[in-house]
Amino acid sequence: MLQQILAELAPTKTTLVAVSKTKPVHKILAMYEEGQRIFGENRVQELVEKEGQLPKDIEWHQIGHLQTNKVKYIAPFVSLIHAVDSLKLLKEINKQAAKNDRIIDCLLQFHIAEESSKFGFDEVEVKEVLKGDSFKKLENIRIVGVMGMATFTSDEEQVKLEFRYLKQIFEKLKKDFFSAQDSFKEISMGMSGDYQLAISEGSTMVRIGSLLFGNR
Ligand SMILES: *Cc1c(COP(=O)(O)O)cnc(C)c1O
Repeated sequence: MLQQILAELAPTKTTLVAVSKTKPVHKILAMYEEGQRIFGENRVQELVEKEGQLPKDIEWHQIGHLQTNKVKYIAPFVSLIHAVDSLKLLKEINKQAAKNDRIIDCLLQFHIAEESSKFGFDEVEVKEVLKGDSFKKLENIRIVGVMGMATFTSDEEQVKLEFRYLKQIFEKLKKDFFSAQDSFKEISMGMSGDYQLAISEGSTMVRIGSLLFGNR
């Protein structure tokens, strides 16, 4: 399955994040041996345990909601944090990154689904943050793009419109805030059930779990 998905992603050079949450270390290692290097987890404790047991050249992505009090555990090694949804969290990531003498890459999460969720910025909020002085002082984080999750529905048209909306947000932010920053280039959208739609709407990074590892 890994090779099949990689072949589908190749024409658009979309990055695969293999979502290994709940899956045992030996399954991750098997996929590592097939060549996969980027893995995503959504629980900090599980991420830290697995990082300690697996090869050091794995790039670990924190993909799920992150509580500020847990940032310190992943700050020494995490390579991308997908679900940043508040200034408070950005500040804490910055602080912990500084302690580890690192710059940590982050994606801004947007609420694009119809389902009510506590997580994710809206466009108004994010502009306030990016314009603010406290954001400009954060030297140990780098915003490299946006992330979102579409509604869990079989209505493909709806999912497509939600992905399209995230892409529009990305383009606006690029123009208004990050035009001079080449590294602002990622749109993390698409999971097992909707990654093909996401790619057709401009995803640069898909997060695929169950299709690769089996159902959880
Ligand atoms: C679990 C998870 C995924 C992967 O979901 P699948 O449907 O198993 O591919 C992607 N993104 C986030 C944020 C997740 O928590």
